[in-house]
Amino acid sequence: MNDIDHRVSGNKLDLFHQQEEGAGMVFWHPRGWELYRVLEDYVRARMRRAGFREIRTPQLLARSLWEKSGHWEKFGAAMYSLADAEEGRALCLKPSCPCHVQIFNQRVRSYRELPVRYSEFGACHRDEPSGSLEGLKRTRAFVQDDAHVFCTEAHIEAEVGRFCSLLRAAGLQFDVLEGEGAFYGPKLEFHLTDSRARSWQCGTIQLDFVLPERLDAEFVNERNERERPVMIHHAVLGSMERFIAMLLEHHEGWLPVWLAPEQVVVATISDANIAYAQQVMQALDEAGVRSVLDSRPERLEKIVDAREKQVPLLVVAGSRDERDRTISIRMRDGQQVTLSFADGVGHLRLAARQTRAHA
Ligand SMILES: [Zn+2]
Repeated sequence: MNDIDHRVSGNKLDLFHQQEEGAGMVFWHPRGWELYRVLEDYVRARMRRAGFREIRTPQLLARSLWEKSGHWEKFGAAMYSLADAEEGRALCLKPSCPCHVQIFNQRVRSYRELPVRYSEFGACHRDEPSGSLEGLKRTRAFVQDDAHVFCTEAHIEAEVGRFCSLLRAAGLQFDVLEGEGAFYGPKLEFHLTDSRARSWQCGTIQLDFVLPERLDAEFVNERNERERPVMIHHAVLGSMERFIAMLLEHHEGWLPVWLAPEQVVVATISDANIAYAQQVMQALDEAGVRSVLDSRPERLEKIVDAREKQVPLLVVAGSRDERDRTISIRMRDGQQVTLSFADGVGHLRLAARQTRAHA
């Protein structure tokens, strides 16, 4: 089996590039960003269903906060920092954890509100040595599907269970390992195994009794006393960038239909069919199917190109289809099926939405 490097797919499928001026950073192209957003929306919907409220916190914060949280001491060497021109304060680029505590701390919390769950697509920066950078797998800027639960010890077990069902809902098969070198407290790491039996660390969940103490998080308990909540840090996919690298390598660029940036190429047989092809495109667009039109005169190249770009479904719109109002669909494995207009759109709509989790 040939070993596909996600960087090769990224280039071939026109998803992203990296360049010297932004070493360790990613320039997402339209198709790559489409994939990114589909994945992000999927996680977002799952997190909402699991009881998390999405928030957004600043990128850049005074170094004093990072000193208080303990990040500066432990990770300072890898944190990007700069000075605030007006006040000359040192500022640092975040991870999200201390920011979520700031929102929790904005008002007095009662035990009745717990667990409080926040999630954020948190942009993180890490000044990694240039020699360790590797495409999307190791970057200097990445987004984590960061989430935090503020709760009591009595809630921990149920929250860990909730996290595991989130992973299962995402169709992820995993092994659980005890994490090492944990910064906050006990940590579980979730490792996925890909098609070539390589193991990837994706999700993590970690209990934290330290950060609430350092940053003064508290709630009022049943006895009307102030008490520290337990903080649970969790990420389902981990770094979005690394997860996309894993998807591309695992599927060798043939992403499942629901993730493919372009799900259907609508190819015309001749110029006479362009108007009909556009009707098909419009119906697909209304059905939420991502399609592109290929109306170039070269017939054969269209099929070759759709394969080359690893677009999973091809609709060939010819004069017979137009006359009979049918849709001819060609699958990735070469199978072909001709359906009525409504059935064809319905079929593609279903194919476009089918995630493993719903199967
Ligand atoms: Zn955290």
